[in-house]
Amino acid sequence: CGIIGVVANKESNKLAELVVSCLTRLEYRGYDSVGVASLSNNFLEVRKAKGTVEEVVKKKNIKDMSGFAFLGHTRWATHGPPTDYNAHPHTDCNNEIAVVHNGTIRNFKELRDELQALGHKFKSETDTEVIPHLIEEYMKRGMDAFQAFKSAIKIIQGSYAVLAIIKGEKRIFFARRDNPLIIGVGEDKNFIASDIPSFLPYTKKVIIIGEGELGYITPSSVYIEDEKGNPIDVLSRMQI
Ligand code: GLU
Repeated sequence: CGIIGVVANKESNKLAELVVSCLTRLEYRGYDSVGVASLSNNFLEVRKAKGTVEEVVKKKNIKDMSGFAFLGHTRWATHGPPTDYNAHPHTDCNNEIAVVHNGTIRNFKELRDELQALGHKFKSETDTEVIPHLIEEYMKRGMDAFQAFKSAIKIIQGSYAVLAIIKGEKRIFFARRDNPLIIGVGEDKNFIASDIPSFLPYTKKVIIIGEGELGYITPSSVYIEDEKGNPIDVLSRMQI
């Protein structure tokens, strides 16, 4: 299982190729399904299926996807069998939020029941799918994107490396607990992945995200805060 996110200044389908190459370098971690989400100014798209990176990229024409932000995922099924619809990324009701996740969410049943009672429709059997719906629900109640993301992370219990993209936001939100996440600082784009080899051909400048930390990356900046909400001095964390 592995995750990769890339956010750049300009929309391009070159980024799709980049994400595919990053996903290929995550294959050694083991997986059963593959998926990619792309975000442009007014379009969020998800393409995913059971199979190898090579198979899914071909079958779903993933290299044709275009956007300024991309998420990629290789899934090792824990909740729900390996199927096309259980593959990540997962989305909210309106297809405006896409999430990839490694790990397991212990309290997903309670959360899903509550969300369903509020009218949320679920499309998979995964624990992960509660996350986009939680973000959607919090935004519906008036929170901005980052507040909503943080609130969703606060309420889930378990282990996670999570990335989210949200329509209207040129950034990738992230959070981690028990699963690794590393930021790669590029020239005109930033990366975030389960491990360094994933993006190593593109940058050697890395920032290791600490346990329980969360934040977001934009094409040219990184914001991280600790569990208590205190901002981290990102530059002092940078390793070259
Ligand atoms: N628990 C999630 C699922 O079953 C994520 C699995 C993973 O780490 O790839 O879909």
